[in-house]
Formats: sequence, C-alpha cells, structure tokens
Amino acid sequence: MLQRELGIETFGDLLQYFPYKHVDRSKLYSINELVSDMPYVQVKGRILSFEDFSMGPRKVRIVGHFSDGNGICDLVWFLPKRPKNFYQINTEYIIFGKPTIYNGRFQFVHPEMDKADSIQLSEMGMQPYYITTEKMKKAGITSRAIEKLTKTLLQQLKDPLPETLPPFITNRLHFVSRDTAFRHIHYPKTASELSHATERLKFEELFYVQLNILRYAQDQRRKYRGYIFQHVGDCFNDFYHRHLPFPLTGAQKRVIREIRQDMGSGRQMNRLLQGDVGSGKTLVALMSMLIALDNGYQACIMAPTEILAEQHLATIREFLGDMNIRVELLTGIVKGKKREAVLQGIADGSVQILVGTHAVIEDPVQFLRLGFVVIDEQHRFGVAQRAKLWKKAPTPSGGARGGFPHVLVMTATPIPRTLAMTIYGDLDVSVIDELPPGRKPVVTLHKLDSQMTSLYAGIRQQIHQGRQVYIVYPLIKESEKIDLRNLEEGYETMCQVFSEFRLSKVHGQMKPADKEEEMQKFIKGETQILVATTVIEVGVNVPNASVMVILDAQRFGLSQLHQLRGRVGRGADQSYCILVTKPELAEDTRKRINIMCDTNDGFLIAEADLKLRGPGDLEGTQQSGMAFDLKIADIARDGQLVQLARDEAQRIIDDDPQCQKAAYNLLWQRLQQLRKTLVNWSAIS
Ligand code: ADP
Ligand code: MG
Repeated sequence: MLQRELGIETFGDLLQYFPYKHVDRSKLYSINELVSDMPYVQVKGRILSFEDFSMGPRKVRIVGHFSDGNGICDLVWFLPKRPKNFYQINTEYIIFGKPTIYNGRFQFVHPEMDKADSIQLSEMGMQPYYITTEKMKKAGITSRAIEKLTKTLLQQLKDPLPETLPPFITNRLHFVSRDTAFRHIHYPKTASELSHATERLKFEELFYVQLNILRYAQDQRRKYRGYIFQHVGDCFNDFYHRHLPFPLTGAQKRVIREIRQDMGSGRQMNRLLQGDVGSGKTLVALMSMLIALDNGYQACIMAPTEILAEQHLATIREFLGDMNIRVELLTGIVKGKKREAVLQGIADGSVQILVGTHAVIEDPVQFLRLGFVVIDEQHRFGVAQRAKLWKKAPTPSGGARGGFPHVLVMTATPIPRTLAMTIYGDLDVSVIDELPPGRKPVVTLHKLDSQMTSLYAGIRQQIHQGRQVYIVYPLIKESEKIDLRNLEEGYETMCQVFSEFRLSKVHGQMKPADKEEEMQKFIKGETQILVATTVIEVGVNVPNASVMVILDAQRFGLSQLHQLRGRVGRGADQSYCILVTKPELAEDTRKRINIMCDTNDGFLIAEADLKLRGPGDLEGTQQSGMAFDLKIADIARDGQLVQLARDEAQRIIDDDPQCQKAAYNLLWQRLQQLRKTLVNWSAIS
C-alpha cells in the first residue's frame, strides 16, 4: 500500500516521508478554557451519556456528552448507526480535535480518541501529521499508523544515521546532525527542535541540488571547449553601421558585450538571456549570430512554434535587408524539394542562419560548421535537452579548431532568481532590464463579462483609429463540465458583433498552412481582429495591435497573462489589456488579476507567480530535470537557503575544481549516490 500510494519502498523512503504539520500535544486544556477560533486542542475527561438523533434512514448523529469536571462539551459523530463497541461511558479519554460552537455549546466533530492510560502526554510532544490517501485510510493506514511505523523504525536503528554533510559545513552553519534532524523532523519535543531539523534537511537538499548543477557546469566547461570568435567582421559591422534601424538600448549593448566576451574566452558559452517581452532580445540574438558568421560559422535559432519560427525568419530577413546572407527556415511544414535543398545547404555550409523549431534537434540535420545556437522563449527546455543539442553539434571539422557551439537561451518569462539558480543553475545570466525608448506601458483593466457591450464600443473606437485587436479564448473545444466560451462560437459571435470589420481566427488545431495564412492576414493588416487561443502567446509581433482582450482570464496563469499582454504595447500608441472574468472569483484568481492591473514588471509578476503557485506548477520546472524532486525545501519560500546552499556549493567547486581533495570525498560520494538513485538527476550527470 505504501509503495503503491506513496512510492515508499525502503526504510529510507519512509524516513523521508516528512509530516506536513505538527500539533502540540503536550498541553491539556480544560473545557472552561475553550474559546472560539481555537486550533486543535486536547481535553481529558469522560463521556457521561450518549444521545442518538436520527438523520434519515441511514444516518444518525451521535452525541456524547463529555465532562472534564470543569465543564461539559459534546462529542459528535455522524454514522450510519452507533457501532456496538463504541466508546465507553465513564472511561477516561483524551480527546483531540478542533472545538466549534453549536447551539451555544462547544462540540468536537469526529474527535481523535485515546484512552487516557494508553498515552503518555509528556512523550507525545508535537504530534506529526502525514498525508494519506483515501485508499490508505480505508486500509487502516492513517497518519497515526505512519507515525507508529516511523517511531518504531527510529527506535530500532542501532547506530546513528550516517552524516551526509562534512563537519566544516555543519559546524560553521550550526546545523544539527543528520541523525538528530531525522528524529526531530518526525518527533520534535519543541517548536525549536522542529525548526532546526527542518532547516538542516532543507539546506542539505538544496545544497546537493546546487552542488550537482555547479559540478555539472564545471564538467561542461572542462569537457567542452568553445570556438573562439575573436574577430568582428563585415557581417557585424555592415549590419551595425548600415542596417540597424534604431540605436541599441544600453542594456542591449551591455548584453552583446557579455556575449562577445564569452565567445572569445575559449569556453563554450552557456548563457541565459532574460528580458521582458518587447525588450528586444531578437536583435541581440541576431547580432551575436553575425559574429559567428564573421568567424566562418553557421548559426541557428530555434523557436517553440512554427508561427514563431516563421516570424523570426521574417524579422531577420527584414533586419538584414539587402545583406548577402542566406537565411533559411526548417520546420515541420517545410517539405519535399524545398526541405532537401535546405538540408543540403545546412550540410554544405551555404545556409548561414537557420531558423527552425525543435525539428532541428530531432531531425538528421547535419551542419557543416555550427558555431552558435539560440534557443528562444525556451523556459520549456530542460538541461537534458540542451545537452542533446550541443552533443549533436560537434562538427566534422573539429581538429585544431575543435570546440562546441555557443548556446544562448532566451526567455521572456522572467524567472525569479532562486528559481533560475535551480533550473538554469548551470547557465550564466544576462538581463535586458530596459525597454526600447518611447514605449508607453500597457494599461491593464479588469472587466466583468456583463460589461461586454461597453468593451465592444471601446474596441470599435480603437479600430476606427487604425489599430488592431486580439481577442483570446482559453480553449477551443467545448467542455461540458466547464462553462467555457468556445472559440468557434466566439468567433461567430465576434463576426456578428463586428460585422463591419474583417476577422482572423487562429488556434492550435488548424493545419499549419491555414494558420499561417490567417496570421499573415492579421500581420499585414488585412484583418482588424484576431480571434485566437494561446497559440499567439509567445513572440508574435504586430506593432499596430493595441488591444489585447483576454476572455475567461481567470483560467490563465500569471505568466501566461503577462506573455499575452506583451503582444501589445509594441508600437508608439497607448495600448490596453482587458482581462474579462465572471464576477465571482476565487481568492487566488483575484490576486492574479490585481497584480496584472497593478504592474507591468515581469520580474515582480514572476515572483508573485512563484509564491502563488509554487515551483512545481511553473512551466518548465517539470522538465528541468534537476530540482523538483525536492521533498522538503521550497524554492518559493526558502530563497535565503537556496542562496546559502549555492554559496557553499560554489565555494567547494572553486576550491576543488577537479574533485581531487580528500576533504571533500564525502561530498563527491554522496553526490554520486544521489545521481544514481534520483532518476531526474541521472539525466544530466
Ligand atoms: P522580445 O524581447 O520580446 O523578443 P523583440 O525582439 O521582439 O522583443 O523586440 C520587440 C520590438 O522592439 C521589435 O519590434 C523590435 O524591432 C523592437 N526593438 C528592438 N530593439 C529596439 C531598440 N533598441 N529600439 C527600438 N526598438 C527596438
Ligand atoms: Mg521574442
């Protein structure tokens, strides 16, 4: 049962099944001390009598009148009938539960009951509570049962649990021993014992995650030399002096400098470029690729969707204008002769910049001399996938010029620092923290679905001023359970409402060619309204679009809303993002909507998102392949410990880059062991 329901197979697993809370059971309350709003409390007393109240054919409310000599309260059970061997009158019990007031009297509904002589309060201390499933409860494996299992296990351990952190860490940071930590996380006597145990175990978990990442990054650096691009030549210079349509922002210049430094270092660049939507990452990527070209190498940029890849192709070709550089597209829809020609060009080196989707990694694509790879908007890309990419890339021309392509990962969903350290911990980070001049911040408004008429009027006004409008629906197939507006139906409605305008429709299930055609109509301004699902989420760039209407906005996460909003506000005009919801909203949803209305700052939004949802639910974290087996630490709440763990791990890597010092043997052995046992970790080791 434990194995099936919780994946617990060994005693070790059981010990690592930590309680989710503790309740102080060392204190007894007397009934006349009870007040409303109390948490769980326990009282010692006797049941004086029972009363049964029928509640229909198969339900009875059993009330036990319970006295501790100071007062009387009721114990209440709802059962099919009173069992034969129910609790006994006049036996001393310790009851445990949450007191509520009913008919002017305190009552405990379904209290936990122990015979007073069967438990030793002084030994109970803080009682652990474990999560159990319905199936487990049915089989009698309650939280209490797990408590007994762990208690017995800890009692039977003859030797202390072996230490997994070296004394120079535990001493300096004043951590309790591993043995103590495990005993106290389950059975603390006091709140302070519990917090010391928790802190030590959280630290240890985060520390090995960081050590793993940094070790990995260090190995990468040693194993993978990078091509040295010393030379800035015609491509870059010609572009910079003759084709750049606007001056670079300070942040763009700084990041290009950082990238150039990496490319000249002899190490393979692995850099994460963070920048809010619209901050101009594409241009930075392009100029970096031009340096690769100047050094005789090919470059490749990968986008998550076909639409985006096509848009990148168009953007790059437009930027480059009449420069003599061959840029080609490779996605699933490039087929037949065209595909062969592109593949041929990649292989013979005549394709200098390749724009593509994941197809580029999976396909038997062989570059002649791939020197620079950009992965756009890829917070969905785990370490393991990236590794695949650069392993694929070694070029036949290795030899004296041997090395590996530089990798730039770009993400428009800013990632909170502690999370970035964990997911992208092996990457160096550059941040574009400045938007191109002249942008007006998008005004975000919350509207109820009862206010659509005035919303339509606003949209009409914008279109009459020459602007374009996105209308986004959360789903495209009608679900019976959830009352969602169906995109198709919505599209029909919008066509009727806006019969004087032309509309496009895009969703994920359309044929790529149809999708492309519809998109192009909107991009060219032939249609004024684009009705879409979230396929437009990332990257789409139509500067003339000034209104983003998001219907059923309560269905979207924060980062998705922020991404969608980023589709407008790209031109010089004032733009608007309208979040439409039903009137009654859950607490969390209301918070999300308010944050969106309050700020345009992607980093603030990312922090809030992490706090609201926790890291496990954030996009990309499941695939990140590193940290999300976390059993006890929480990236959102344990930010300081993440930093501490990072610093400690870094100190060790710096001191022993080759893993040779005996002082660190324990650490390297433990890391080996973890890499073997944790599936997710082995993917990158
Ligand atoms: P993102 O970072 O979201 O990928 P883009 O690269 O798509 O942003 O850039 C958004 C828009 O800003 C594009 O239209 C781009 O041409 C424009 N842009 C980029 N850099 C600058 C700049 N330095 N000055 C003015 N506009 C710029
Ligand atoms: Mg972009």
